[in-house]
Amino acid sequence: VSDCQVCLKHKNFESVTGVLLAERGGWFLSHFPFLLNEKTVPGHLLIETARHITELSEMTNDEAAALGSLIRNGSSKIKSILGAEHIYVVRINDVTPHLHFHLVPRYANTPKEWWGPKIMQWPERRSISHDEIKILSKKLKF
Ligand SMILES: [Zn+2]
Repeated sequence: VSDCQVCLKHKNFESVTGVLLAERGGWFLSHFPFLLNEKTVPGHLLIETARHITELSEMTNDEAAALGSLIRNGSSKIKSILGAEHIYVVRINDVTPHLHFHLVPRYANTPKEWWGPKIMQWPERRSISHDEIKILSKKLKF
């Protein structure tokens, strides 16, 4: 869909964050953020359908099966390479309709009041620059 920012990104990852980590079974795995000015926790990944669909019910059987492997493989990379203690899987899709999921790592010493969906708003969360994301992504690719 021509006015979808996610579809546009898929045409040229370099034009946005430039960090494609894996392409499997109809999905793209990339490192957050979508926009360069968004604060980014190391290992916050996005899993997006290659096709423009907006509902969970629109996934094919193959896409649904591949999603499970990507969640497993993406989260085990975040744990083994970055040492995250817990990984959240979040689907919101309120602002960006193109079906996608976030893998959001929680690191040790995150105060309990910021656990859960609020973790993405914790002001003291770890963050990395776009250049650091590029370096890290070489380790996260699979
Ligand atoms: Zn789209």
